[in-house]
Amino acid sequence: MYKIGLGYDIHRKEKNRKLYLGGLLISKNNGLTGHSDADVLIHSICDAILGALNKGDIGEHFSDKDQKNKNKKSSIFLKKIMKFLKDDNYEICNVDSTIICEKPKLKFYKKKIQNSLSSIMKIDSNKISIKATTHEKLGEIGNDKAIASKSIVLIKENV
Ligand code: ZN
Repeated sequence: MYKIGLGYDIHRKEKNRKLYLGGLLISKNNGLTGHSDADVLIHSICDAILGALNKGDIGEHFSDKDQKNKNKKSSIFLKKIMKFLKDDNYEICNVDSTIICEKPKLKFYKKKIQNSLSSIMKIDSNKISIKATTHEKLGEIGNDKAIASKSIVLIKENV
């Protein structure tokens, strides 16, 4: 039994916050606004897995109204969702993500992000594809006001 899930997220940029992508600290400033650490890539992967499991979205499980989620590392959310997956007897076949970001250039971070996610999710890094693109200077993302991420995941039931 195979299932597929899709996740999308976007966060505004904020000068005086750290930028985390896939659990990796990318820069100490020009990060993203959010209740948690605002790791837009992890949020899109969480939603993709929750979608495949048909268990709602990240906001239902880790509300931004809940004080205990304030400034929380998003890797904690992803680890909990990996536990849901395991509890339902599923495993990840592969994850494919695209980060849409004008700055910084992510070319040299993609491999590191892949390894970071591999250790958070405890799956082989070959199952995780991280791609990056710009928004061709169009709209809010193109004007460096936001970073977005799209993820798709395939899961299979263990028999
Ligand atoms: Zn988010």
